[in-house]
Amino acid sequence: MKSTGKCPKCRSTDILANVKAVDRGHGDAGRHFSLAVFADPDAFVFTGEERSTVSAWVCAACGYVEFYANSPDLLKQVREESLRRKG
Ligand SMILES: [Zn+2]
Repeated sequence: MKSTGKCPKCRSTDILANVKAVDRGHGDAGRHFSLAVFADPDAFVFTGEERSTVSAWVCAACGYVEFYANSPDLLKQVREESLRRKG
């Protein structure tokens, strides 16, 4: 949908691009929905956590939603570091 501009479900081209995905935490505080990966997930303190916010592409005709990480390259770097640490 992001690259084609067309909904894969209903074929509509009425696409809302780059909609911010918001997560509702304690006290209904709006925060950008994000993904997290950890270089060392078993560590007590220094887990090497990195996050990427997420944006959505929404079909205005049928409501289908696709999510995209805004920093996939950063998540990949941390995942590769995690695999190196495991040996
Ligand atoms: Zn659709």
